[in-house]
Amino acid sequence: MTTPDLIRSVTYAAEQPGTKLLIIAAIHGNEKCGTVGCRRVMEDIDSGRLPIIKGQVTFVPIGNPRAYDLDQRYAERNLNRYLVPMANPDCYEARLGNILCPMLEACDVHLAIHSYTVGGEPFIFVAPNDPKEHAFAKALGARTLLTGWEEAYAATGRKTKIAGDEEATGSIEYARRHGAIAVNIECGQHKDPEAPHVAERAIRNALAYLGITAAEVAPKTDAAPTRMVEVKEVHYRDDIGEFPKPWKHLEKVAKGAVIATRANGEPIAAPDEGFIIMPKVDTPIGEEWFYFGVEKRA
Ligand SMILES: [Zn+2]
Repeated sequence: MTTPDLIRSVTYAAEQPGTKLLIIAAIHGNEKCGTVGCRRVMEDIDSGRLPIIKGQVTFVPIGNPRAYDLDQRYAERNLNRYLVPMANPDCYEARLGNILCPMLEACDVHLAIHSYTVGGEPFIFVAPNDPKEHAFAKALGARTLLTGWEEAYAATGRKTKIAGDEEATGSIEYARRHGAIAVNIECGQHKDPEAPHVAERAIRNALAYLGITAAEVAPKTDAAPTRMVEVKEVHYRDDIGEFPKPWKHLEKVAKGAVIATRANGEPIAAPDEGFIIMPKVDTPIGEEWFYFGVEKRA
């Protein structure tokens, strides 16, 4: 159990000034791989096995303690939306936001650690045109960087998650707004036994890449080069449509392949050779259903 009305943060600061890294895990309470990853790395720092030589790192191993105890995404509302300071916080997550926002304002680099619902490989959300952010993301160890998110949402004309919209503000957006490099790693399915290792490796690599520890950035475990996938389409589940098969996240599809069918039988086909992104079989009507993306050539 945690202490639900407290956020525990631990900062390790070296004498020598340098980059300030902020790591937040379990901002969604049922995404616990990052908490394990934080604890493993903190143990190594505490025992002296992994010295902090420059700058500082702050760990928030459990961003949403009450939701963590409930093993739910959130207690009252999604903490990773509308994450802005509120003079009169109107719910539990709003109060947590008032604790987290000043931390996000103060950091130079923010790493948010998440997991997701469907099975598939780890990936990292990045902004489309930020070379510094891309270089940092590539060092973390996941093969796929996913971008184009805000543009794809904007193209739908719907009012969710559009750039600049406070409703869309999560820890990444808030940190970027305050000048930080910020990326979000999705370490795999919520219960994937590999996910804590992915999280731990990302933390160690972030510390090494930023020169906060003297360790080397660990090479990726698979030989495939890093790839950038650009989200092109957001599809909402506007009726009880179905998938023809249980898609995996980042599964490849050929141009013209039927990805899903609407309730009236109307097919939704892939406009190009590309990838299915985060398909959600049982998502409620009106919510995001799946995304389509293509590999972005450098
Ligand atoms: Zn999440």
